[in-house]
Amino acid sequence: MNQPAQILLAGLNPSDPNDWRLNNYEQREGYAALRKILSDKIPPEKIIEEVKKSALRGRGGAGFPTGLKWSFMPKQYEGDKYLVCNSDEGEPGTFKDRDIMRYNPHMLIEGMLIGAYAMGIRAGYNYVHGEIWDVYERMEEAVDEARAAGYLGDNILGSDFSFQLYNHHGYGAYICGEETALLESLEGKKGQPRFKPPFPASFGLYGKPTTINNTETFASVPWIIRHGGDKFLQLGKPNNGGTKIFSVSGHVNKPGNYEVPLGTPFAALLEMAGGMRGGRKLKGCIPGGSSMPVLPGDVMMQTDMDYDSIAKAGSFLGSGAVIIMDDTTCMVRALERLSYFYYEESCGQCTPCREGTGWLYRIVHRIETGKGRMEDLDLLNNLADNIQGRTICALGDAAAMPVRAMIQHFRDEFAYHVEHKKCLV
Ligand code: SF4
Repeated sequence: MNQPAQILLAGLNPSDPNDWRLNNYEQREGYAALRKILSDKIPPEKIIEEVKKSALRGRGGAGFPTGLKWSFMPKQYEGDKYLVCNSDEGEPGTFKDRDIMRYNPHMLIEGMLIGAYAMGIRAGYNYVHGEIWDVYERMEEAVDEARAAGYLGDNILGSDFSFQLYNHHGYGAYICGEETALLESLEGKKGQPRFKPPFPASFGLYGKPTTINNTETFASVPWIIRHGGDKFLQLGKPNNGGTKIFSVSGHVNKPGNYEVPLGTPFAALLEMAGGMRGGRKLKGCIPGGSSMPVLPGDVMMQTDMDYDSIAKAGSFLGSGAVIIMDDTTCMVRALERLSYFYYEESCGQCTPCREGTGWLYRIVHRIETGKGRMEDLDLLNNLADNIQGRTICALGDAAAMPVRAMIQHFRDEFAYHVEHKKCLV
């Protein structure tokens, strides 16, 4: 297999503790895109056009086209506007954004600078997940370096463009990764999602127009500007431009972050991760983080790793967390763990989620502990139906989707648990 194209992790040397520093980033053409934009006075709309051409889609989970999102920012608005980076990476199985910030923090800063320039924004926040203090400290050091070198602050590199960037350390709540809960938290309030509409583009941080993108999304932008949107698009597939970091975890020989072009066959990704641990059989895989539907192993082996192919197979690419389960995995136990997580992390604002996640967990728990009833299988589906699409934010869907998919694909295993009061595996 040819060496895959890399953008975010290319040329990094994680064994060098100073590799992340500004001078090393500059040697890898770091801040060249920003310099070019400012020296050539490239019009902001041209930047947005280039990002649109690249077909870059949000890498946090939703996959929304980035250029289109940037074009929603009201141009003529004269008051404050904000740029927010969602680095609140808390989806179980996902561990890519922390590595971008740990090993390539200036790429994120440069991406945010370009976004701010394109949308006429003068202040931004990077909301870092609460449980990764060392990463927050790394970002603080990187911002200090960038400021000292004239890349952040007033009149950047002698231009009339000014941008202030602040890192904000979260407190570890999963729900603060939901963009409006994140905004509430940034404002110093309890991190609970807001009703949408209004969307952050018109009513965001402090009620001002705000654009929120994920860490990996921003970090992809400097390359797009340096090499052109078309080149980025060509790395992937139509509508699925560029590369993507997949966090591969579970029963593989070499779990870790792998950056590959979108559209790479799942089988090739599995091979890069060292194949199945102990040479065992792939039973199932959650291809996009724990809130996405599980797919059976044989379906995954035929699937390419891009938004459209995974959707066609019946799941979502989500945040790119690939959770591998071999044939020793008890799917009832796996679902019990997942449903407990969403029950624990529900913010409690809306009834279907607050009550429903508890019911989901308790029913799966009773099946797992040998007290289940056969009608519980349909009851779980019924409960999931009554949660999905009926809540303020997507956490309700995140709790419901894994339940439905597990029962759809592994119903026999759940029935065996009920009948024999023990695992099939
Ligand atoms: Fe809170 Fe759950 Fe409602 Fe989201 S769906 S607002 S997490 S209760």
